Amino acid sequence: MAALAAAPILPKHATFMPLTIPPWPRQTPEISRAVSQCIESADWGSYQSQAKKTLIAALESLFETPHVRLCCSGTAAIEISLRAAGVTAGDEVIVSAFDYPGNFRCIELLGGKPVLVDVARENFGPDVDSVAAAASTRVRAVIASHLYGHACDIASLRDLCDQQGWVLIEDTCQAPGMRVNGKPAGSFGHLATLSFGGSKPLSSGNGGAILTRDDRMAARMAALLDRPSEAFPLSALQASVLVPQLAELQSDNTQRDHIARQIQQQLQRQNSTLKCMAETRDGIDPAYYKLALRAASSSIRDRVIATAAEHHLPLGHGFRSMARSSERRCRKPVPLDRSEALANEICVLDHRALLIDEADVFELCQLLGNP
Ligand SMILES: *Cc1c(COP(=O)(O)O)cnc(C)c1O
Repeated sequence: MAALAAAPILPKHATFMPLTIPPWPRQTPEISRAVSQCIESADWGSYQSQAKKTLIAALESLFETPHVRLCCSGTAAIEISLRAAGVTAGDEVIVSAFDYPGNFRCIELLGGKPVLVDVARENFGPDVDSVAAAASTRVRAVIASHLYGHACDIASLRDLCDQQGWVLIEDTCQAPGMRVNGKPAGSFGHLATLSFGGSKPLSSGNGGAILTRDDRMAARMAALLDRPSEAFPLSALQASVLVPQLAELQSDNTQRDHIARQIQQQLQRQNSTLKCMAETRDGIDPAYYKLALRAASSSIRDRVIATAAEHHLPLGHGFRSMARSSERRCRKPVPLDRSEALANEICVLDHRALLIDEADVFELCQLLGNP
Protein backbone atom coordinates (compact mmCIF):
# COMPACT_ATOMS: atom_id res chain seq x y z
CA MET A 1 0.00 0.00 0.00
CA ALA A 2 1.28 3.49 -0.83
CA ALA A 3 2.24 5.78 2.01
CA LEU A 4 -0.66 8.01 2.95
CA ALA A 5 -0.08 11.50 4.17
CA ALA A 6 -1.59 12.38 7.52
CA ALA A 7 -5.22 13.02 6.67
CA PRO A 8 -7.13 15.41 8.91
CA ILE A 9 -10.57 14.01 9.55
CA LEU A 10 -13.54 16.29 9.81
CA PRO A 11 -15.41 15.79 13.04
CA LYS A 12 -19.10 14.99 12.99
CA HIS A 13 -19.62 17.37 15.89
CA ALA A 14 -17.98 20.75 15.75
CA THR A 15 -16.80 20.44 19.35
CA PHE A 16 -14.12 17.88 18.42
CA MET A 17 -10.71 18.72 17.07
CA PRO A 18 -9.98 16.91 13.79
CA LEU A 19 -8.54 13.45 14.42
CA THR A 20 -5.13 12.92 12.85
CA ILE A 21 -3.88 9.45 11.96
CA PRO A 22 -0.06 9.38 11.92
CA PRO A 23 1.43 8.80 8.45
CA TRP A 24 3.12 5.52 7.54
CA PRO A 25 5.88 4.69 7.01
CA ARG A 26 7.39 7.01 9.55
CA GLN A 27 9.94 9.53 8.38
CA THR A 28 12.35 9.94 11.26
CA PRO A 29 15.74 11.65 11.40
CA GLU A 30 17.19 8.31 12.59
CA ILE A 31 16.02 6.55 9.42
CA SER A 32 17.38 9.32 7.19
CA ARG A 33 20.71 9.23 9.03
CA ALA A 34 20.96 5.46 8.74
CA VAL A 35 20.39 5.62 4.96
CA SER A 36 22.91 8.44 4.52
CA GLN A 37 25.45 6.56 6.55
CA CYS A 38 24.88 3.41 4.46
CA ILE A 39 25.44 5.44 1.28
CA GLU A 40 28.37 7.56 2.43
CA SER A 41 30.27 4.58 3.82
CA ALA A 42 29.72 2.64 0.54
CA ASP A 43 28.20 -0.12 2.65
CA TRP A 44 25.22 -0.10 0.22
CA GLY A 45 27.41 -1.65 -2.47
CA SER A 46 28.51 -4.75 -0.61
CA TYR A 47 27.08 -8.27 -0.54
CA GLN A 48 27.96 -8.79 3.14
CA SER A 49 27.16 -5.31 4.38
CA GLN A 50 27.59 -3.99 7.88
CA ALA A 51 23.91 -2.91 7.83
CA LYS A 52 22.83 -6.53 7.34
CA LYS A 53 25.18 -7.77 10.06
CA THR A 54 23.85 -5.15 12.48
CA LEU A 55 20.24 -6.04 11.66
CA ILE A 56 20.88 -9.77 12.06
CA ALA A 57 22.56 -9.23 15.43
CA ALA A 58 19.63 -7.08 16.62
CA LEU A 59 17.09 -9.70 15.49
CA GLU A 60 19.05 -12.54 17.11
CA SER A 61 18.95 -10.64 20.36
CA LEU A 62 15.29 -9.57 20.16
CA PHE A 63 14.08 -13.06 19.23
CA GLU A 64 16.59 -14.89 21.46
CA THR A 65 17.50 -17.08 18.53
CA PRO A 66 20.92 -18.14 17.18
CA HIS A 67 20.05 -18.31 13.48
CA VAL A 68 18.50 -15.43 11.52
CA ARG A 69 18.38 -15.30 7.72
CA LEU A 70 17.20 -12.17 5.93
CA CYS A 71 15.18 -12.55 2.74
CA CYS A 72 13.17 -10.53 0.24
CA SER A 73 9.64 -10.89 1.71
CA GLY A 74 7.47 -12.56 4.31
CA THR A 75 6.02 -14.67 1.52
CA ALA A 76 9.50 -15.86 0.54
CA ALA A 77 10.19 -16.56 4.24
CA ILE A 78 7.18 -18.91 4.32
CA GLU A 79 8.28 -20.65 1.13
CA ILE A 80 11.87 -21.05 2.36
CA SER A 81 10.55 -22.40 5.68
CA LEU A 82 8.33 -24.96 3.96
CA ARG A 83 11.27 -26.08 1.82
CA ALA A 84 13.60 -26.24 4.83
CA ALA A 85 10.92 -28.33 6.53
CA GLY A 86 11.28 -30.77 3.63
CA VAL A 87 7.80 -30.21 2.16
CA THR A 88 7.68 -31.67 -1.36
CA ALA A 89 5.04 -32.89 -3.81
CA GLY A 90 2.37 -34.99 -2.14
CA ASP A 91 3.11 -33.79 1.40
CA GLU A 92 0.37 -32.24 3.51
CA VAL A 93 0.69 -29.02 5.49
CA ILE A 94 -1.88 -28.07 8.14
CA VAL A 95 -2.97 -24.44 8.01
CA SER A 96 -5.91 -22.46 9.37
CA ALA A 97 -8.78 -21.73 6.96
CA PHE A 98 -8.50 -18.16 8.24
CA ASP A 99 -4.96 -17.04 7.46
CA TYR A 100 -2.83 -15.01 5.08
CA PRO A 101 -3.87 -16.48 1.70
CA GLY A 102 -0.27 -16.54 0.46
CA ASN A 103 0.47 -19.31 2.96
CA PHE A 104 -2.07 -21.60 1.27
CA ARG A 105 -0.59 -20.68 -2.14
CA CYS A 106 2.97 -21.43 -0.99
CA ILE A 107 1.96 -24.96 0.03
CA GLU A 108 0.27 -25.53 -3.33
CA LEU A 109 3.18 -24.11 -5.33
CA LEU A 110 5.50 -26.67 -3.74
CA GLY A 111 3.12 -29.43 -4.85
CA GLY A 112 1.89 -29.92 -1.30
CA LYS A 113 -1.70 -30.14 -0.14
CA PRO A 114 -3.09 -27.70 2.44
CA VAL A 115 -5.11 -29.36 5.20
CA LEU A 116 -7.54 -26.76 6.51
CA VAL A 117 -8.37 -26.53 10.19
CA ASP A 118 -10.64 -24.11 12.03
CA VAL A 119 -9.52 -21.00 13.86
CA ALA A 120 -9.28 -21.20 17.67
CA ARG A 121 -12.02 -19.81 19.94
CA GLU A 122 -9.70 -17.55 21.95
CA ASN A 123 -7.39 -16.21 19.27
CA PHE A 124 -6.96 -16.04 15.49
CA GLY A 125 -4.56 -18.98 15.12
CA PRO A 126 -5.28 -22.63 14.34
CA ASP A 127 -7.36 -24.53 16.90
CA VAL A 128 -5.12 -27.11 18.59
CA ASP A 129 -7.79 -29.83 18.76
CA SER A 130 -8.55 -29.37 15.07
CA VAL A 131 -4.86 -29.65 14.27
CA ALA A 132 -4.62 -32.89 16.25
CA ALA A 133 -7.74 -34.22 14.48
CA ALA A 134 -6.22 -33.43 11.08
CA ALA A 135 -3.28 -35.84 11.54
CA SER A 136 -2.35 -38.19 8.69
CA THR A 137 0.81 -40.00 7.63
CA ARG A 138 1.33 -37.38 4.92
CA VAL A 139 1.44 -34.33 7.17
CA ARG A 140 4.93 -32.84 7.33
CA ALA A 141 4.41 -29.34 8.71
CA VAL A 142 1.98 -26.97 10.42
CA ILE A 143 1.77 -23.21 9.80
CA ALA A 144 0.50 -21.20 12.78
CA SER A 145 0.07 -17.41 12.46
CA HIS A 146 -0.20 -14.84 15.22
CA LEU A 147 -2.88 -12.57 13.74
CA TYR A 148 -4.38 -9.19 14.70
CA GLY A 149 -2.35 -8.81 17.86
CA HIS A 150 -3.38 -12.14 19.36
CA ALA A 151 -0.97 -14.91 20.29
CA CYS A 152 -2.01 -18.29 18.91
CA ASP A 153 -1.67 -21.39 21.15
CA ILE A 154 1.92 -21.67 20.12
CA ALA A 155 3.35 -23.68 23.05
CA SER A 156 0.62 -26.35 22.73
CA LEU A 157 1.09 -26.46 18.98
CA ARG A 158 4.83 -26.96 19.46
CA ASP A 159 4.20 -29.85 21.87
CA LEU A 160 1.80 -31.47 19.43
CA CYS A 161 4.21 -31.07 16.51
CA ASP A 162 7.06 -32.55 18.53
CA GLN A 163 4.91 -35.57 19.44
CA GLN A 164 3.89 -36.09 15.82
CA GLY A 165 7.26 -35.39 14.21
CA TRP A 166 5.88 -32.36 12.34
CA VAL A 167 7.73 -29.11 11.69
CA LEU A 168 6.04 -26.05 13.22
CA ILE A 169 6.33 -22.86 11.16
CA GLU A 170 5.42 -19.90 13.36
CA ASP A 171 4.24 -17.05 11.14
CA THR A 172 5.24 -13.96 13.11
CA CYS A 173 4.89 -11.58 10.14
CA GLN A 174 2.20 -9.56 11.95
CA ALA A 175 3.57 -9.66 15.46
CA PRO A 176 7.24 -8.69 15.77
CA GLY A 177 8.03 -7.98 19.41
CA MET A 178 5.02 -9.83 20.86
CA ARG A 179 5.88 -11.82 23.98
CA VAL A 180 4.13 -14.95 25.19
CA ASN A 181 4.72 -15.99 28.81
CA GLY A 182 8.04 -14.19 28.88
CA LYS A 183 9.31 -15.53 25.56
CA PRO A 184 9.36 -13.80 22.18
CA ALA A 185 6.77 -14.86 19.61
CA GLY A 186 8.96 -16.32 16.87
CA SER A 187 10.99 -18.44 19.30
CA PHE A 188 8.47 -21.30 19.62
CA GLY A 189 8.36 -22.77 16.13
CA HIS A 190 11.04 -24.97 14.59
CA LEU A 191 11.08 -22.09 12.11
CA ALA A 192 9.52 -18.63 12.30
CA THR A 193 8.94 -15.94 9.71
CA LEU A 194 9.00 -12.14 9.75
CA SER A 195 7.80 -9.66 7.12
CA PHE A 196 9.21 -6.19 6.51
CA GLY A 197 6.58 -5.41 3.87
CA GLY A 198 5.37 -1.88 3.19
CA SER A 199 2.33 -2.04 5.45
CA LYS A 200 3.95 -3.87 8.35
CA PRO A 201 4.99 -2.32 11.70
CA LEU A 202 8.67 -2.94 10.82
CA SER A 203 9.08 -2.00 7.20
CA SER A 204 11.68 -1.65 4.48
CA GLY A 205 9.05 -1.61 1.73
CA ASN A 206 9.80 -5.25 1.00
CA GLY A 207 11.67 -7.76 3.06
CA GLY A 208 11.49 -10.64 5.48
CA ALA A 209 13.44 -12.99 7.71
CA ILE A 210 13.45 -16.59 8.85
CA LEU A 211 14.39 -17.49 12.43
CA THR A 212 15.38 -20.85 13.83
CA ARG A 213 17.01 -22.32 16.93
CA ASP A 214 17.46 -25.65 15.18
CA ASP A 215 20.95 -26.18 13.69
CA ARG A 216 19.66 -28.75 11.19
CA MET A 217 17.01 -26.34 9.87
CA ALA A 218 19.64 -23.59 9.67
CA ALA A 219 21.88 -25.86 7.60
CA ARG A 220 19.02 -26.74 5.25
CA MET A 221 18.23 -23.06 4.83
CA ALA A 222 21.85 -22.30 4.03
CA ALA A 223 21.75 -24.95 1.29
CA LEU A 224 18.65 -23.30 -0.19
CA LEU A 225 19.81 -19.71 0.09
CA ASP A 226 23.59 -19.64 -0.47
CA ARG A 227 24.41 -20.56 -4.08
CA PRO A 228 26.91 -18.97 -3.17
CA SER A 229 25.23 -15.56 -3.75
CA GLU A 230 22.08 -15.24 -1.68
CA ALA A 231 19.11 -16.36 -3.75
CA PHE A 232 16.41 -14.19 -2.10
CA PRO A 233 18.36 -11.31 -0.54
CA LEU A 234 17.49 -8.23 1.46
CA SER A 235 19.72 -5.32 0.46
CA ALA A 236 22.03 -3.27 2.67
CA LEU A 237 19.85 -0.19 2.11
CA GLN A 238 16.75 -2.09 3.22
CA ALA A 239 18.57 -3.39 6.28
CA SER A 240 19.75 0.13 7.15
CA VAL A 241 16.21 1.52 7.52
CA LEU A 242 15.13 -1.39 9.73
CA VAL A 243 17.78 -0.98 12.43
CA PRO A 244 16.43 2.36 13.81
CA GLN A 245 12.85 1.03 13.64
CA LEU A 246 13.80 -1.96 15.79
CA ALA A 247 14.94 0.44 18.48
CA GLU A 248 11.42 1.93 18.62
CA LEU A 249 9.52 -1.35 18.33
CA GLN A 250 8.92 -2.05 21.97
CA SER A 251 7.67 1.42 22.86
CA ASP A 252 5.46 1.46 19.74
CA ASN A 253 4.01 -1.93 20.67
CA THR A 254 3.27 -0.71 24.18
CA GLN A 255 1.56 2.41 22.83
CA ARG A 256 -0.53 0.39 20.34
CA ASP A 257 -1.52 -2.04 23.09
CA HIS A 258 -2.61 0.86 25.28
CA ILE A 259 -4.74 2.48 22.56
CA ALA A 260 -6.27 -0.89 21.57
CA ARG A 261 -7.43 -1.39 25.15
CA GLN A 262 -8.78 2.17 25.27
CA ILE A 263 -10.75 1.54 22.07
CA GLN A 264 -12.13 -1.67 23.56
CA GLN A 265 -13.28 0.15 26.71
CA GLN A 266 -14.70 3.12 24.82
CA LEU A 267 -16.75 0.93 22.45
CA GLN A 268 -18.13 -0.93 25.48
CA ARG A 269 -18.98 2.36 27.17
CA GLN A 270 -20.83 3.45 24.04
CA ASN A 271 -22.74 0.14 24.03
CA SER A 272 -21.54 -0.24 20.48
CA THR A 273 -22.53 -3.44 18.70
CA LEU A 274 -19.03 -3.37 17.26
CA LYS A 275 -16.90 -5.61 19.47
CA CYS A 276 -13.22 -4.75 19.77
CA MET A 277 -11.10 -7.91 19.85
CA ALA A 278 -8.04 -6.65 21.71
CA GLU A 279 -5.59 -9.17 23.18
CA THR A 280 -5.96 -8.79 26.96
CA ARG A 281 -5.00 -12.23 28.30
CA ASP A 282 -2.47 -12.43 31.13
CA GLY A 283 1.06 -13.32 30.13
CA ILE A 284 0.82 -11.84 26.65
CA ASP A 285 2.41 -8.58 25.53
CA PRO A 286 0.66 -8.06 22.21
CA ALA A 287 2.08 -6.54 19.04
CA TYR A 288 -0.53 -5.14 16.67
CA TYR A 289 -0.37 -4.96 12.90
CA LYS A 290 -4.16 -4.71 12.68
CA LEU A 291 -6.77 -4.58 15.43
CA ALA A 292 -9.86 -6.70 14.73
CA LEU A 293 -13.36 -5.33 15.33
CA ARG A 294 -16.26 -7.74 15.06
CA ALA A 295 -19.66 -6.62 13.76
CA ALA A 296 -22.95 -8.40 14.36
CA SER A 297 -23.31 -9.28 10.67
CA SER A 298 -21.48 -8.98 7.41
CA SER A 299 -23.74 -6.17 6.16
CA ILE A 300 -23.11 -4.12 9.30
CA ARG A 301 -19.39 -4.80 8.90
CA ASP A 302 -19.48 -3.51 5.32
CA ARG A 303 -21.32 -0.39 6.47
CA VAL A 304 -18.72 0.29 9.17
CA ILE A 305 -15.94 0.02 6.57
CA ALA A 306 -17.77 2.34 4.16
CA THR A 307 -18.31 4.94 6.90
CA ALA A 308 -14.68 4.70 7.96
CA ALA A 309 -13.59 5.27 4.35
CA GLU A 310 -15.62 8.51 4.25
CA HIS A 311 -13.63 9.68 7.26
CA HIS A 312 -10.30 8.50 5.80
CA LEU A 313 -9.85 6.01 8.61
CA PRO A 314 -7.58 3.05 7.78
CA LEU A 315 -10.16 0.31 8.33
CA GLY A 316 -10.49 -2.62 5.95
CA HIS A 317 -11.65 -6.19 5.52
CA GLY A 318 -9.87 -9.03 7.31
CA PHE A 319 -8.73 -12.17 5.52
CA ARG A 320 -11.18 -14.12 3.41
CA SER A 321 -11.88 -17.62 4.64
CA MET A 322 -10.40 -20.43 2.58
CA ALA A 323 -13.12 -22.79 3.82
CA ARG A 324 -14.85 -22.79 0.42
CA SER A 325 -11.72 -23.90 -1.48
CA SER A 326 -12.44 -27.02 -3.53
CA GLU A 327 -11.76 -30.49 -2.11
CA ARG A 328 -9.37 -31.05 -5.00
CA ARG A 329 -7.10 -28.29 -3.71
CA CYS A 330 -7.15 -29.14 -0.02
CA ARG A 331 -8.28 -31.62 2.61
CA LYS A 332 -10.94 -30.43 5.09
CA PRO A 333 -11.15 -32.93 7.95
CA VAL A 334 -12.99 -30.68 10.47
CA PRO A 335 -15.83 -28.12 10.39
CA LEU A 336 -14.61 -24.61 9.54
CA ASP A 337 -17.52 -22.60 10.91
CA ARG A 338 -15.57 -20.19 13.07
CA SER A 339 -13.25 -19.30 10.17
CA GLU A 340 -16.24 -18.53 7.95
CA ALA A 341 -17.95 -16.41 10.60
CA LEU A 342 -14.80 -14.40 11.32
CA ALA A 343 -14.15 -13.75 7.65
CA ASN A 344 -17.70 -12.42 7.29
CA GLU A 345 -17.89 -10.30 10.40
CA ILE A 346 -14.57 -8.69 11.21
CA CYS A 347 -12.98 -5.53 9.99
CA VAL A 348 -9.45 -4.51 10.84
CA LEU A 349 -8.03 -1.17 11.94
CA ASP A 350 -4.49 -0.45 10.78
CA HIS A 351 -1.66 -0.05 13.31
CA ARG A 352 -1.27 3.62 12.33
CA ALA A 353 -4.58 4.29 14.03
CA LEU A 354 -3.21 2.73 17.23
CA LEU A 355 -0.58 5.46 17.43
CA ILE A 356 -3.12 8.27 17.83
CA ASP A 357 -3.33 10.47 20.88
CA GLU A 358 -5.24 8.94 23.75
CA ALA A 359 -7.44 12.06 23.68
CA ASP A 360 -8.60 11.08 20.17
CA VAL A 361 -9.90 7.62 21.11
CA PHE A 362 -13.35 8.97 21.93
CA GLU A 363 -13.66 10.64 18.54
CA LEU A 364 -12.38 7.56 16.71
CA CYS A 365 -14.93 5.36 18.48
CA GLN A 366 -17.73 7.83 17.72
CA LEU A 367 -16.85 7.59 14.04
CA LEU A 368 -16.55 3.78 14.01
CA GLY A 369 -18.78 2.47 16.69
CA ASN A 370 -22.31 3.57 15.82
CA PRO A 371 -23.14 1.42 12.82
C1 LIG B 1 2.15 -9.81 5.45
C2 LIG B 1 2.07 -11.26 5.83
C3 LIG B 1 2.80 -12.24 5.14
C4 LIG B 1 3.60 -11.95 3.90
O1 LIG B 1 4.56 -10.96 4.03
P1 LIG B 1 5.05 -10.11 2.73
O2 LIG B 1 6.30 -9.47 3.19
O3 LIG B 1 3.95 -9.15 2.41
O4 LIG B 1 5.29 -11.09 1.61
C5 LIG B 1 2.74 -13.54 5.59
N1 LIG B 1 1.97 -13.87 6.64
C6 LIG B 1 1.23 -12.97 7.31
C7 LIG B 1 0.42 -13.42 8.48
C8 LIG B 1 1.24 -11.64 6.92
O5 LIG B 1 0.48 -10.75 7.57
